[in-house]
Amino acid sequence: MALRFFNTLTRQIEDFAPLEAGRVRMYTCGPTVYNFAHIGNFRAYVFEDLLQRHLEFRGLRVERVMNLTDVDDKTIRGCRAAGIPLAEFTLPFKKAFFEDLDSLRIKRADHFPEATAADHIARMISMISTLMEKGHAYRADDGSVYFRIHSFPSYGRLAHIVLDELKPGARVSSDEYEKENVGDFALWKAHDEGDGDVWWESPWGRGRPGWHIECSAMATGILGPQLDIHCGGEDNIFPHHEAEIAQTESVTGLPFAKLWMHCKHLQVEGTKMAKSAGNFFTLRDLVEDKGWSGREVRYALISVKYREPLNFTFEGLGGARSALLRIDQWTARLIETAAGSPAGDLPEITALEGFGTALDDDLNISAGLAAVFDVIRETNRRLDAGNLASAEAAALLLWLAGVQSVLHLEPEPEAVPGVVTELLARRVAARNAKDWKASDALRDEIASLGWTVKDTKEGQKLIRKN
Ligand SMILES: [Zn+2]
Repeated sequence: MALRFFNTLTRQIEDFAPLEAGRVRMYTCGPTVYNFAHIGNFRAYVFEDLLQRHLEFRGLRVERVMNLTDVDDKTIRGCRAAGIPLAEFTLPFKKAFFEDLDSLRIKRADHFPEATAADHIARMISMISTLMEKGHAYRADDGSVYFRIHSFPSYGRLAHIVLDELKPGARVSSDEYEKENVGDFALWKAHDEGDGDVWWESPWGRGRPGWHIECSAMATGILGPQLDIHCGGEDNIFPHHEAEIAQTESVTGLPFAKLWMHCKHLQVEGTKMAKSAGNFFTLRDLVEDKGWSGREVRYALISVKYREPLNFTFEGLGGARSALLRIDQWTARLIETAAGSPAGDLPEITALEGFGTALDDDLNISAGLAAVFDVIRETNRRLDAGNLASAEAAALLLWLAGVQSVLHLEPEPEAVPGVVTELLARRVAARNAKDWKASDALRDEIASLGWTVKDTKEGQKLIRKN
């Protein structure tokens, strides 16, 4: 089956074909680094990771950009409140973001451009100048430069907004606003007292870019004027992505992104996540304070299809833990049965095809995981009956490697504690000296710490006891 995805722009499921055969240019809106990202943000990043990995599983080469918004209303408010320079304020949140990506096993994008980099600021200014020349932008009496939305006839197409009733000239200067306040939006914000020392020189005087032009400049600067896929959370649709389309296409005269994909919001225990409701979680809260692993959180975030709202619950995390245990135990059983044998033909199980085809169909992960568990159930039945050949088990392990290249839910290799490594070294010495009594005593001591030693041709091997 061909790859098919739901396009927010057309509200339809469409066959996917990149502009250039075999290569996908993908832009994903990244974090605003004014705080630690919360699990709602990470739902979007995990969905984008699944999308990229599945495209790669299907043989496409993906070039991905994820930007860091390190200047906007929120970051400026944050650094002013903290009384430190903007770059100093955002740095720890940038660092934390990369640690969180690793913890959730999200593949690094090819590029992580930062909005405040000199070349990107220059590109933003150049795009705004072009918009001024073409009559799409104007400088208002407050000194800021605004995009004239009535100059772009399809404005509102992505978010389904009808502009007819809107009187021309209505303006909005903040980066984020509701649909009721739709109006000409800020491309360049004239410096004011609230910005402190955050400003750049421009043809319109000192100021700073609006949030939306940042993404247009970084996306086209790195990937070119046209993208295959642009992603984000559904809260990015308006005004952010609507604005990105209007600005970019007014500059380039070309359709900006072919496919717009947005994941639905996340709730916690059935209600909107809010600090005041006590249900607001960063990844750190779950991993460091509550003892869940990044892998378990990844499973919980990945396992609901991106176009369904996700209700994140602790019961769901418990479910993720058991599901992972089931996959781990099955994998261990296959390894034991395969016993190093070369892979033969796969056993005839219809669900084996199901994982890939489910993901081809608009990333239907629920059906994909159901297929994986069907395969587990069926092969466990055969294993119980002594009915699975070692060559078949080896073939299933290869199939699983393909699945894991998309899901990336492999068990964490467990770190061996220093004290065990030390006992192991002493045991090697004892065995070299043919002191079998000491060797056995050391083996028992290691066992009491939860590790089994196996003597193999390649030397001693440590296995964690269950
Ligand atoms: Zn963006």
